[in-house]
Amino acid sequence: MKTHTAPVITIDGPVGSGKSTIGRMLAERLGILYLDTGAMYRAVALAARQRGIAPDDDAALGRLCGRIRISFSRDGGRQLVFLDGADVTGEIRLPEISMLASAVSAQPCVRAAMVAQQRACAENGVVADGRDAGTVIFPQAPFKFYLDANVEVRARRRHKELIEKNIPMEYSGVLKEVEQRDHNDTTRLHAPLKPAPDAVILDTSLMTIEEVLTALVSHIERGRPLLPYTQTGTQETC
Ligand code: C5P
Repeated sequence: MKTHTAPVITIDGPVGSGKSTIGRMLAERLGILYLDTGAMYRAVALAARQRGIAPDDDAALGRLCGRIRISFSRDGGRQLVFLDGADVTGEIRLPEISMLASAVSAQPCVRAAMVAQQRACAENGVVADGRDAGTVIFPQAPFKFYLDANVEVRARRRHKELIEKNIPMEYSGVLKEVEQRDHNDTTRLHAPLKPAPDAVILDTSLMTIEEVLTALVSHIERGRPLLPYTQTGTQETC
């Protein structure tokens, strides 16, 4: 296992725990790459749907992962996601892709392919968010966080996010989706969602984004002072 000289920070947690928002802000503050590992599973799910591959066909999904190219770039404060060069940023956030991502991510060939790509991104430091960032992708990361919140709070956050993205959905449907994904992600055989034994666990139910960010930054600073790394170029090909 490779040790990283640049800071590797992992943030895991269930849907709506605040990990993506915090991950993005933290990476920006530290001047290092932000890696949204969930977006990668979403892109695989979309690619599988486009080709009519069943979400439980591990071998076909594994072959698919070897053929597609997932990449990211930044447009101001927004992160864009590309699948084989096509901008899929909006499409991968649709509720049906969320459920499909939860299904394809349970398949071992898919996980093996994604983890290899995710590790290759950490050369110059990374803030990686997901479900297994601290347990599987970067088990030796010096800073690991696990964010959680009660399920109604998380469903309300997710509902608000969907409305902001012009994806209309009833709150009750969102709550059901969140509960189903929680169930899938925590009970699957491969890389189930759980805190790493050495992760700092934070319940964000009653916290603002600023409070969570401050808590993480002060924990990191207590561990060791972090010098910002400078990213060169705008295209992040990981
Ligand atoms: O984080 P996000 O909700 O975008 O992730 C979509 C789905 O991808 C999750 O419900 C989970 O099933 C899967 N995922 C995963 N491992 C990760 C990140 C996401 O299995 N590291």
